[in-house]
Amino acid sequence: MFSGNFKSLGESAMTIVYTREHEMFRQSLRKFLHKEVVPHFRKWEKERQVPKEIWKSFGRHGFLCPWLPEEYGGSGVGFEYSLIIMEEMSRADVDIPISLHSDVVVPYLFSYGDEEQKRRWLPGCASGDLLTAIAMTEPDAGSDLAAIQTAAVEEGDYYILNGQKVFVTNGWDCDLVVVACKTGNRPKPHHNISLIAVEDGTPGFIKSKKMEKMGRHTEGTAELVFEDCRVPRNHLLGQEGKGFYYLMEKLQQERLVAAIGSLCAAEKMFAEGLEYAKTRKAFGKPIGSFQYNSFKLAEMATEIEIARTFVERLVAEHIQGRELVTKVSMAKWWVSEMTNRVAAQVLQLHGGYGYMEEYPICRHYQNVRVDTIFAGTNEIMKSIIAKSLGL
Ligand SMILES: Cc1cc2nc3c(=O)[nH]c(=O)nc-3n(C[C@H](O)[C@H](O)[C@H](O)COP(=O)(O)OP(=O)(O)OC[C@H]3O[C@@H](n4cnc5c(N)ncnc54)[C@H](O)[C@@H]3O)c2cc1C
Repeated sequence: MFSGNFKSLGESAMTIVYTREHEMFRQSLRKFLHKEVVPHFRKWEKERQVPKEIWKSFGRHGFLCPWLPEEYGGSGVGFEYSLIIMEEMSRADVDIPISLHSDVVVPYLFSYGDEEQKRRWLPGCASGDLLTAIAMTEPDAGSDLAAIQTAAVEEGDYYILNGQKVFVTNGWDCDLVVVACKTGNRPKPHHNISLIAVEDGTPGFIKSKKMEKMGRHTEGTAELVFEDCRVPRNHLLGQEGKGFYYLMEKLQQERLVAAIGSLCAAEKMFAEGLEYAKTRKAFGKPIGSFQYNSFKLAEMATEIEIARTFVERLVAEHIQGRELVTKVSMAKWWVSEMTNRVAAQVLQLHGGYGYMEEYPICRHYQNVRVDTIFAGTNEIMKSIIAKSLGL
């Protein structure tokens, strides 16, 4: 999947090179979003539900998993197309967990699925007929993934899966969920973890609760329960006991996706703040003309520029297949904290209007709060960085 356009500027510096094809893709996505998504999105947000049909529309237009090879329904393009999708969705101010599906979950099916599994699931993933989720977190195991208790026991041609998962993005709407579970009792807990794909409708797979959240109301975050759930043994992804390794391998892209999401949100909020600072007047002057506010905006512009430079370089290096765990961890924590600073400052700049739901900054402020928590908390990111420093 590491195909794409990048330009090397030497051993340590790289950049993405955009072509006419990228620009055409961006324009057609922008048009699609403004025609089919933007006019309805606020209503969906209030209803806390995105119609499943819209996923098929994304799929029909080639906006789901564009990186998948054509034989599985994709376009065989590089990861920079995923960046374009995240950028345009943020600019259009719509939040549907497309990147979680396309760039976080489906890569597990592609990388660790056998040919039969790929033919069974991937075309639906690209068309939007099959929505995916990943369930790692449990009520008593989040950061410490090796402590999960959900377990699968072999019985003939089946695994009998029992356990509970929480905070599963897209879990409410998913047709297929990749479940991290224990399959064994080896002395080292992380050697017992396997990944099993469970289809919606499998007996014993229960979507028990749609979780109420501070923000991101269209992401169908769910609690999932597996009660003597009979999953065909050929739904195991890759090898038994290798799940922890697979998760670690894919977390690089998941955290890069998280950093990109935070960056795009910061850019969007900054644009709103700048516009507001130029138009809102107090004491007979635009509020942006007060030095305090103009300096705040100058600081935000600087930090966002630094973040974009770093993130784009990581995207280019990721496309090239480099191992970037430490740098991606740096990006994930720093960009998400910067984004939360931007959210608080832009909201403050809006005065009382910033607290009103009808102003976008109010929603953005709520939505970005989780950026420092999910995809591995920022404390865990700092632990990874500290370890790489020999600490
Ligand atoms: C909106 C949302 C969407 C999510 N989507 C998904 C999903 O799709 N799939 C999924 O599986 N999970 C998902 N998660 C779960 C998310 O990844 C976890 O919440 C996260 O990993 C933290 O786990 P926890 O909540 O159990 O916190 P805990 O692990 O209990 O941590 C609590 C606090 O202790 C800190 N802490 C823990 N260990 C250490 C340590 N060693 N050193 C220092 N500090 C530490 C943490 O940083 C945190 O501040 C989602 C969560 C949210 C809120």
